[in-house]
Amino acid sequence: MHVKTILNRIQKFKSFVYSAVRWVDGPGGEPAIEAELRPRTNARACCSICGGEAPGYDRLAERRFEFVPLWGIRVYFRYAPRRVDCPDCGVRVERMPWASGKRQLTEAYAWFLSGWAKRLSWKEVAQVFHTSWEQVFRAVERAVEWGRAHQDLSGVKAIGVDEIAAWKGHKYLTLVYQIDSHCKRLLWIGEKRTVKTLLRFFRWFGKERSQSLDFICSDMWKPYLKVIAKKAGQAVHILDRFHIMAHLSKAIDEVRAQEAKELKEKGYEPILSKTRWLLLKRPEHLTEKQETRLADLVQYNLKSIRSYLLKEEFQLLWSYTAPYWAGRFLDTWCTKTMRSKIEPMKKVARMLRRHRSLLLNWFRAKGALSSAVVEGFNNKAKLTTRKAYGFRTYHAMEIALYHALGALPEPNFTHRFC
Ligand SMILES: [Zn+2]
Repeated sequence: MHVKTILNRIQKFKSFVYSAVRWVDGPGGEPAIEAELRPRTNARACCSICGGEAPGYDRLAERRFEFVPLWGIRVYFRYAPRRVDCPDCGVRVERMPWASGKRQLTEAYAWFLSGWAKRLSWKEVAQVFHTSWEQVFRAVERAVEWGRAHQDLSGVKAIGVDEIAAWKGHKYLTLVYQIDSHCKRLLWIGEKRTVKTLLRFFRWFGKERSQSLDFICSDMWKPYLKVIAKKAGQAVHILDRFHIMAHLSKAIDEVRAQEAKELKEKGYEPILSKTRWLLLKRPEHLTEKQETRLADLVQYNLKSIRSYLLKEEFQLLWSYTAPYWAGRFLDTWCTKTMRSKIEPMKKVARMLRRHRSLLLNWFRAKGALSSAVVEGFNNKAKLTTRKAYGFRTYHAMEIALYHALGALPEPNFTHRFC
């Protein structure tokens, strides 16, 4: 069987044929396969701008396009592009179905690399396929651009607004997810977490779509609350479980760190050292050893422990189904917490009181959506940004997140390379 036969099976063109396949020297001198292309007899060239058939003008020098490697051997297409004299666009290079623009990577190879970049880090993809990080990034960038231009935004009824701290020094990104039961994906990313950031989302999303949203999950972050009320006032705004529990965990962390420091200054034995996860984990996730340690700790009337118990008690809130009783529980918990004299916990209680009605929306919307989706996305987004060595720019980070979480569409291929 000839390589040509394989090529005709996996990548056949209507107006071009493979004329010859030969060994050539690849970069670094290792052998590579080169497939020469020529126009099919009587097939006229098409303008690369408008796609229409146009009379020939001249022929450019031969160019090489990198194709998907075969058995670890690099494969290139060689072709001398014609130029056409298009009545509408002037003298232009012809359309070549395997390539786009001045790019050296063929479309098939770019989709191949971006496909692998969903499974491996960009660095690993570059290593495995003997290409550069830059090429992988360009390939992913193209896939994301294509996918975002072709994605269907109809029927988005529920969104979740989340933030992550990217890079050191707390540069925030705002992420907006679709969290409908039939479709969950990252819709949009913006720099920072200001009023302007979220306004940009709604501008991109469009007025009509924004006004047909039914549910929005978000944190109690003020700029978000403001913009959501203004741009999608009709939607039920839910302060969701994931974001609220995150505030409580943060408060406990603060109490524990402060108390550990005080105890050390007073010369007590370090009973609070290495207890961070003990206090943050749910009790059912503790190991037997951790359980014993926790039982020991509870004997001391420490602020950390009292905070921990308050948080555990708060968990009960989520088991309510009626908003009324959930509200009663919440009020009791807040009163008790306000008397605790533990400032970080009091701060959370004050915040919850301020947003009482939004919080109770969680119970009104129950069953319609789950904030576990936002939590899952939040973890994946953090993982993507953490793997981000090499994402020197905001743009690269954005591309990586859309690629990993956007569930973006791809063109229909006749043959799938990966
Ligand atoms: Zn044209």
